[in-house]
Amino acid sequence: MEALTGGPLYQNTMKIVEDAGKLVNLSPNVLERLKYPRRTLVVSVPVRMDDGRVKVFTGYRVQHNQTLGPFKGGIRYHHQVDLSEVAALASLMTFKNSLMNLPLGGAKGGVQVDPNKLSKAELENLTRRFTSEISPFIGPDRDIPAPDVGTDSQTMAWMLDTYSLESGYSQTGVVTGKPVEIGGSLGREAATGLGVIYATEKALEKLNKRISETTIAIQGFGKVGMYAAIEGYAKGAKVVAVSDVSGGLYNERGINIAELARYVKEKKVVKDFPEATHISNEELIEIQADVLAPCALEGVIHAGNAARVKAKIIVEGANGPTTREADEILNSKEVVVVPDILANGGGVVVSYFEWVQDISWLFWTEDEVRNKLREVIYKSFDKVWAFSEQHKVSMRTAAMGTSLLRLERAMKLRGQAW
Ligand code: GLU
Repeated sequence: MEALTGGPLYQNTMKIVEDAGKLVNLSPNVLERLKYPRRTLVVSVPVRMDDGRVKVFTGYRVQHNQTLGPFKGGIRYHHQVDLSEVAALASLMTFKNSLMNLPLGGAKGGVQVDPNKLSKAELENLTRRFTSEISPFIGPDRDIPAPDVGTDSQTMAWMLDTYSLESGYSQTGVVTGKPVEIGGSLGREAATGLGVIYATEKALEKLNKRISETTIAIQGFGKVGMYAAIEGYAKGAKVVAVSDVSGGLYNERGINIAELARYVKEKKVVKDFPEATHISNEELIEIQADVLAPCALEGVIHAGNAARVKAKIIVEGANGPTTREADEILNSKEVVVVPDILANGGGVVVSYFEWVQDISWLFWTEDEVRNKLREVIYKSFDKVWAFSEQHKVSMRTAAMGTSLLRLERAMKLRGQAW
């Protein structure tokens, strides 16, 4: 059990669940069930490497809860992935999907691998073998994977193809976040970043500020951070700092994000982009900006740096970027923290739209997708804000409380808990 529940993100997440559960007077039976995933799968993923050697990687798929609908959640490729982290992320998907009012449960998968060290052929082999190993447990009505850290639309295309080959016919609804050419949704690629900006707008509105008068620092310039930067910049915000694995950039007058996006397309990393000072990822967290959006990995705002965070609003594009200790420090400084299950919900909301489009074989325009996404984020934000005002709690506790109440009602109706 320790391997499952012992990791820092798992412990952190369950403490948030317990706090919010106490506040909403959650039935102890519901709480007990939600503390553990329904099913965890650990698989060996043997890959023939380009030099002829066979290397075995470890893969996971954790299915946390399916009370509201099929399991849903991304697949992460990262060298530090472990069972406990994947299980914590799977539970966050359950809570996120419940909060966003989607008819979906929660799951997450991962392979312990550094994808940057593999060739494209090796990555394809790994993805196909991993898919094959988990294929009895996934499917358009069972469990629908999507991209996460270290995976992308190409990964989903290989998963879709492998699953369809095994089924004997094309099953586009088995994954979301796939390329538009093979059943993906317009607007999915940018969706998480877009959601981060919609949530930012809402938080600013509550503090009587406008995005066009705001400075933003964004950690991560990948699938989430880059699109958040593009959208924020398009709305007139000054994006003063960004970063990726190569380090960070700072310019107090604002970085030209349109040019940076073009630069990164060619060079792959933000490093050495002109007209900006080089900073580290750690420095970015403490930079002078109105809004800080951590859009990379978990645990980056911790007891060691939280007191020095200057932003008044934090919008969590990543899952679990703030530790519990940091959360307490930020709360005492009255920083508004828009929690992950609300701030980065845009990705899975458009995944849901994609799944619906695949099932109905009817595809929407990008404007339709964006407008519907904005509506969901705004509505969820207002719900969480009202809850936090009513109960005088942080937005994190409010988001979890709101999510738990919906889950509890559904679990009771289905006779899963009393
Ligand atoms: N990996 C994303 C997340 O953590 C998206 C999941 C999905 O679209 O299923 O929310």
